[in-house]
Amino acid sequence: MGEFDLIRQIFLPLAQSTRSAALLMGPGDDCAIQRITPGADLVFSIDTLVEGVHFPVNYDPECLGWRSLAVAASDLAAMGARPVCFTLALTLPTACSEWLTGYARGLRKAAQAFGLALAGGDTTRGPLTISVQVHGEVPAGGALRRDGAEPGDWVCVSGTLGAASAALSWLDVAEVPVEAQELLARYHYPEPCLTLGQALQGTASAAIDVSDGLLADLTHILEASGVGARVDACKVPIARALEILEPTRAQALALNGGDDYELCVTISPEGWQRLSASTRAELTIIGEITREPGLVLVNAKTATPVSGYDHFGVQG
Ligand code: ADP
Ligand code: MG
Repeated sequence: MGEFDLIRQIFLPLAQSTRSAALLMGPGDDCAIQRITPGADLVFSIDTLVEGVHFPVNYDPECLGWRSLAVAASDLAAMGARPVCFTLALTLPTACSEWLTGYARGLRKAAQAFGLALAGGDTTRGPLTISVQVHGEVPAGGALRRDGAEPGDWVCVSGTLGAASAALSWLDVAEVPVEAQELLARYHYPEPCLTLGQALQGTASAAIDVSDGLLADLTHILEASGVGARVDACKVPIARALEILEPTRAQALALNGGDDYELCVTISPEGWQRLSASTRAELTIIGEITREPGLVLVNAKTATPVSGYDHFGVQG
């Protein structure tokens, strides 16, 4: 398949099945055109996935299609934005139609699930690398940023943590026991918290998505906001599937494991009261923002240094 056949056969149909009224021009011209809602801010972000770094070599293309959009959409969730559209820059070693069909299937499922229309992209030859730029909207001035946490706010996290990082040790295993299949599903098909992010828009004081690990990502909020936090490790919600692990290990994965794509948010006690009961039910209060800088972790089962992934640093 040549570059233009590939675009015509794979990506134009995908654009047709993922439309948005705001997208005045999708793939096919020199640029896409997005109409911005008056009174809204455009919120956008780009994420790159490199084979062997962000996903295993010979990774299933359908999982990769889902994952490449899900991790980018998670940043929109963390800003409280409503998803609109995305562009896709795909670098491929070969144009294998079987691989591309699988990739497009996963990408289409994710685009439809998240309400993101394919607006355009770029297709080049080289080592397998995927960049996805996502566009969303929030009411003007209303984006959930990292720098708004205030002393006295609750620190909350959505869902449960640890499953995706626990799955890493099962990725290369041929016969996976049933207990580990739930873990693998969390790794292969991350679910960005788009509805929750929008429900928190206007109420939460700060937010971040948990991509590198809860403690590492919370630290980004603390540094941006110039505050500290006291977190109770016993309150951190651990994925049920981690019951198969030793409790100390399960807690360590929930605190420092990456790839869960839950939201970590701060919210004032009054803000908490304003949330609907169903939104509150999606969050667990795990600690409090303090005036003194630094992250104090209490009740951890083992000494837990904050670690996260740094591409140009040492992994702690
Ligand atoms: P240009 O040379 O003007 O940059 P290209 O030849 O790269 O244009 O792309 C032609 C059209 O196909 C553009 O509208 C572009 O957005 C679209 N396109 C290219 N690759 C992809 C892709 N992987 N997914 C979606 N649209 C794509
Ligand atoms: Mg081009």
